Amino acid sequence: MICNADSIPNGSCLRADVCIIGAGPAGIALALDLSERGFSVLLLESGFMEENPTTQRLYEGDVADKKLHSPPDKYRQRRFGGSTAIWGGRCMPFDPLDFEARSYVQHSGWPISYDDLLPYYPRANDLAEAGRFSYRAEDALGADTLPLIRGFESERVLTNGLERFSCPTHFGNRYARQLQLTPYVNVLLGANCTGIRLQPNKMAVRTVDVQTLTGTRFSATCRITVLAVGGLETARLLLASNDVAPEGIGNSHDVVGRYYMCHIAGNVGRLTIKGPTENVKHGYELSPEGIYCRRRLAVAPAEQQRLGLSNAVARLHFPRITDPVHRSGVLSGLFLARRLISYEYGKRLNDGNSSTTSADYARHVLNVATDPVDTTAFLMHWLSHRSLADRKYPSVILRNRTNRFSLEMHGEQIPQCNSRVKLSDKIDTLGMPKLHIDWRYSNSDIESIRGTLNVLSQEFAASGVARFEYDDENLEEDLTRFGAYGGHHIGTARMGNNERFSVVNAECQVHTVNNLFISGSAVFPTSSQANPTLTIIALSLRLGHTLAKKLGTPQQASVIDREFA
Ligand SMILES: Cc1cc2nc3c(=O)[nH]c(=O)nc-3n(C[C@H](O)[C@H](O)[C@H](O)COP(=O)(O)OP(=O)(O)OC[C@H]3O[C@@H](n4cnc5c(N)ncnc54)[C@H](O)[C@@H]3O)c2cc1C
Repeated sequence: MICNADSIPNGSCLRADVCIIGAGPAGIALALDLSERGFSVLLLESGFMEENPTTQRLYEGDVADKKLHSPPDKYRQRRFGGSTAIWGGRCMPFDPLDFEARSYVQHSGWPISYDDLLPYYPRANDLAEAGRFSYRAEDALGADTLPLIRGFESERVLTNGLERFSCPTHFGNRYARQLQLTPYVNVLLGANCTGIRLQPNKMAVRTVDVQTLTGTRFSATCRITVLAVGGLETARLLLASNDVAPEGIGNSHDVVGRYYMCHIAGNVGRLTIKGPTENVKHGYELSPEGIYCRRRLAVAPAEQQRLGLSNAVARLHFPRITDPVHRSGVLSGLFLARRLISYEYGKRLNDGNSSTTSADYARHVLNVATDPVDTTAFLMHWLSHRSLADRKYPSVILRNRTNRFSLEMHGEQIPQCNSRVKLSDKIDTLGMPKLHIDWRYSNSDIESIRGTLNVLSQEFAASGVARFEYDDENLEEDLTRFGAYGGHHIGTARMGNNERFSVVNAECQVHTVNNLFISGSAVFPTSSQANPTLTIIALSLRLGHTLAKKLGTPQQASVIDREFA
């Protein structure tokens, strides 16, 4: 059942086996899993089916440095389905190495291994509608598939890694009917959790406070409570729930909100590949089951370990859009239309602090005017394969006419305790303290990507088929021009065995609170090269398994049906 929280009488106390707070992919995957096991679930979601500006404003907060981090009400969606309402759908698992303690990545090491998560990845792939759990080109595309760059062979650089693309699946729209029909789940929309109340001994959740924007207040008392509110709100709710534990829940060692990570990302350098354009697998390929896939370059794990490099990938990319010397009508058209594109996708079409001159504008207009064939072909393709398609063409890819590319880097960020989110002294309309975000990167993050680029450059040169150069002096600017990679909010309630340095244990349970669990990227101790959502979903499904064992048999039929429907 899905209903509006305003239909719940003021002052009620709702009961279920599990209360999940937040209906993004983490919360929805867990609710589906638990309901299939017969447990009753109360799924409290702040947002509605459609975007609601007043609800979205509950995400507002401050950032320490606007150049480094977007405002927190951007790059997130407070609505049913969470940020999958606008995500790009890029899916790939973490690498086995990501889970290991690496001496050269401070604070690295998960208390679980890749093998612990592996059983849950295929179902996560299914829920994301990303096809088979198969992320190597030869397995996913067939043994006879051509290499990324013909003639380029290296033991130090892998080119057979794939990313697969979800539709992109909007988890709210896709799973609403299933959640509506299952008798085990009650979804309440417009239900804002404003606090988690602990027992006086601080060892268990007593109740969860809920408010709607129209003033209805009620609570939920469930056997288990799970926070699935995203990487930033998790820290906010834990810190703001400070009536019994003044420092906030799970925060006796001042770890909640610290070690905040995103990804280090930017377009770098010039890659020139010899030979005909057919030698390069640039852009998207369709797997046999019809999923868009894309190749990527990565330094092999053994080489990362030998050189002390954190994990990163590179994709072949077109030249910088803002610079009209590319002479592409499509890119110039995108640049000129950037104000019409949503904040999240338009941001990277602005060139940070550097200003575009009127001569640049004129050259962009000229590019469009003198490139009508490509521009029209692009618009037709975009209309049929993106705007009107159910499974959308993932992004703009230009026809490769010159074998010249830049590299789009996406790298792990080394965790550091001073990169953090905390509560500000401002409050939102529900009386909750807003967030203050102080995201930081370190010199080691930049140097590690420099090391990766140097390996790529050496291996291209050694192969004789390609040349890669980059602007060594301006690398930091290239990688931080747009600040933290938006949308990936990681590490604010990290997982670990030692409660002095972590917030949840290997089962995602808040160390000292035996019925409070966290689902989402807040628990990732390190960020990997991978986009987070597939791993968020896999961890949620693993949590479903954990909770089923802990709960034993379902006990609590959901009270909403009985008393209020
Ligand atoms: C533009 C963009 C592109 C992206 N592209 C990709 C991509 O290609 N690949 C990838 O892996 N990831 C991508 N991401 C990231 C991805 O969207 C997130 O990783 C994912 O949505 C996180 O899922 P979640 O369920 O943990 O949190 P969310 O999706 O943030 O969901 C949290 C839910 O909790 C609700 N909530 C919050 N606070 C409360 C409260 N107090 N009470 C009740 N409910 C509350 C919210 O309304 C929301 O529905 C992208 C993100 C953006 C913004």
